[in-house]
Formats: sequence, C-alpha cells, structure tokens
Amino acid sequence: MSKPDANTPRPLGTSTEASELSQQQATYLPPSDNALKYAKGIQRHVPAKPHASLTETKSNPHLIKSVESFYVRPRWLFVRIETEGGVVGWGEGTLEGHTEAVQGSLRDIGRRLKGWDAMNIEDIYTYLYRHRFYRGGEVLMSAMSGVDIALWDIKGKVLGVPVWELLGGKVREACPVYGWVGGDRPSDVLEQAKARKAQGFTRVKMNATESIAWLDSPHALDETVKRLAEVKSIGMDVGLDFHGRVHKAMAKQLAQLLEPHRPLFIEEPLLPGHPNELKDLYNKTTIPIALGERLFTREDCRPYFELGCIDIIQPDIAHAGGITETRKIAIMAEAYDIGVAPHCPLGPLAFAASLHIGFSTPNFVVCEMSWKMHYNVGADLFTYMKNPEVFKVVDGNIMLMTGVGLGVELDEELIRKEAAEAAKIDPWINPLFRGDDGSVREW
Ligand SMILES: [Mg+2]
Repeated sequence: MSKPDANTPRPLGTSTEASELSQQQATYLPPSDNALKYAKGIQRHVPAKPHASLTETKSNPHLIKSVESFYVRPRWLFVRIETEGGVVGWGEGTLEGHTEAVQGSLRDIGRRLKGWDAMNIEDIYTYLYRHRFYRGGEVLMSAMSGVDIALWDIKGKVLGVPVWELLGGKVREACPVYGWVGGDRPSDVLEQAKARKAQGFTRVKMNATESIAWLDSPHALDETVKRLAEVKSIGMDVGLDFHGRVHKAMAKQLAQLLEPHRPLFIEEPLLPGHPNELKDLYNKTTIPIALGERLFTREDCRPYFELGCIDIIQPDIAHAGGITETRKIAIMAEAYDIGVAPHCPLGPLAFAASLHIGFSTPNFVVCEMSWKMHYNVGADLFTYMKNPEVFKVVDGNIMLMTGVGLGVELDEELIRKEAAEAAKIDPWINPLFRGDDGSVREW
C-alpha cells in the first residue's frame, strides 16, 4: 500500500467513488455563484489527514469505525467508540445542562475521526484541540473528553492493561474518595452523613449555603457553621462547596467563621475568573482552597497556579479534555505544590477515568464520587454497570482497579434502551435561583 499524497485529503473509503467525493468536497465554490453554492453546499466537510506515519492499510484493526453518544439518566452523556477490529471503548462527556451542545460537537468529531488510528491518542487530541482554530471552553472540551477517555479505554483493552499502567504505572494502592451530603437543614445533613458513613465514606462534601445575595445578612451564614459541626460530630471530614454562589463580601466572612471548625477544603469560594480576589481570600484563611471544575485546559489553570491562590486543583475529567489534559494539568500543578482532586459528580466512566489519574499521579489527593448523590434521580452510579464491585468504598477508598482499559463493564443493551427513551424528553437543566427581589442569583 502506498502512503496518501501529503496534499490530498484522506479518502473516506478505498473506492474510486469515495475518493472522487472527497475531491468534490474539497472544492470551495465562488461566493457569487449562489445557485451552485446552495445546491452543493457552501462549505462541505473535508476529511482531515490522520497522522503522517499511518500507512494506508485496510489491515489496521485500530482505525476508528464509529463514534456514538448516548444521553442517559440522570444527566450523563456516554461516548462509545468502536474500531474496525471490533474493540469498543467508552468515555463520558457529560456537561450538565448542555447535553445537546456537546452531542452536536460529538457529531462533528465523529465525522472527522473516522479512519484515524485510535492508538494515536495524543495526535488525535492535538488535532482536535489545535487544528479546529476555535478551542477550549466547556462544550468543545467536554466532547473531546468523551472521545479521549474512550480512546484510553480502547488502548488499555488492546494492550491488555489498566489505563493507570499506560500513565506510568501505579503510585498508590487505593484512591481516597468523598461522597455527597445534599440536605440544607442540620437534621438533614446529619442523617445523610450517617448514610454515607454506612456506605464506607470517611469524607463528604456539601454545599456551604443556599442561594445567597451579593450582600446578604450575616445571619445567612450561621446555618453553614451549624451544619458543618453536625457532620463533623460523627467523625467525618467535610469539604464545603461555595459553588461560586457566594460573592466576595460574604465569602470572606464565611471563611473566617469556618476557620475554627477546620473543613477539609472550601471549593469555588469565589467564581472562576477572579484570581486576584481569590488571592486576597487565600491570604485571609488557612483553610485549603480548591477550584477548577470550570477550568478546562492548562492555560485556564495557569493564572491560578502562578498567583498561588489555590491549594487544590479540581479538573473535571468530563469537561477538561479527558485523561490527556487532566494528566497534564496534574503534572503542571505538582510544580506549584498543588494537589489534584478530580471533580466528578458524574457517571461511572468519568469516575473510573478520574481514578486512573489518581492511581498514577503523585499529587492526587481525593476524588469526588456520586454514589447516592442527590442529583442521581432515575439512575445511580451503578445502574449501567455490570461490575459495580470495582467501586466498593473501603474505609473511604476505592481499591486499585485491575481490569483492562477503564475496568468498567457496561450494560450496553440497557444504555441503548435508556438513551432511546431519554431522547423523547428534554435533557436535565439546573434550577433557576432568584432572590427576594426577583433578581437572578448564581446556582
Ligand atoms: Mg463544586
């Protein structure tokens, strides 16, 4: 077989017709010729060339045959990639509240990647990130995440090893995890914290406040301190998620009130986009500051690292470019003595991918786990899994996963059935919070 001409877009197939079609698609019609323009399309899809080292061959079983996505309850978006050789990899590109946008991006990626070698993960990542001109942001990066995680799953399955083995091998035998406490009243949180303890958790996270005004009554913060004390009373460590809903005037008061109670960390104490203000807050408290679920690339994280305004970076592997980019963010963070705590209130594929980062990353500290989380309505973390035992929580840890790829076995029949049903309803969106004056508040 001969190498494709460097200047020729790669044919869709091996037939002459496909090659001719490819050539037609590469033609840009003059804008003045409207009839032709609309008859044949203004700007048609032109297949991009795979890695230059790829010899054109039908015998390569790793060529990508299909990219599919499945929206399933409670609010997850799974990605399935199959190779010509029949190896199937699964990923997750859940972007809560923006499912259709990511699905649209995935349709585009699926078209582009057909015929590419699934084993060349870095080349595919670089192509998707750099070559498309528009880059970054939650939608494009979440779609890339789903694809990237599925490719690592495929590579692990092809080579017969867990993903952590591909990332340099294990650095720990277990990953610390935390569960969620979703209630708002002190009695609620104690009950839920006890339930998490019974599940095996030793750490939990909960929202610090309900919706709160830019400048609210100082008494709006009293309940937070009570709830933290309630949960700590049964021996749990507690992270508090400010959720970016507490503005600076209230956040600095709240951090001071919480200081004597020693939460595990405070998360998004201010909205991303305020690194200087975060630095001011950082200098006022000894509580570890975590942030990062709304940062999607190394470039997004960079100002927070350089300014020294966080202790923990929290990339969400389903939004931050998957395993490839999350790994790079983690390595970059280590140079600033910053720990990595993957954000993951999501499904089993995002969780497994986060754990593989954890098993192989020295500065990993803890991972979020959505088992029995309040968002999981209609389905929970284990619903689509055939081997939920790999996620058994033992003394607050998930033990080393030894299965090939991500190590998650899914019930594909159920996923297809569920996705067909879910397609009939509108995807999940977050509730709207308004203040007493009717103004929109942060969610
Ligand atoms: Mg959060």
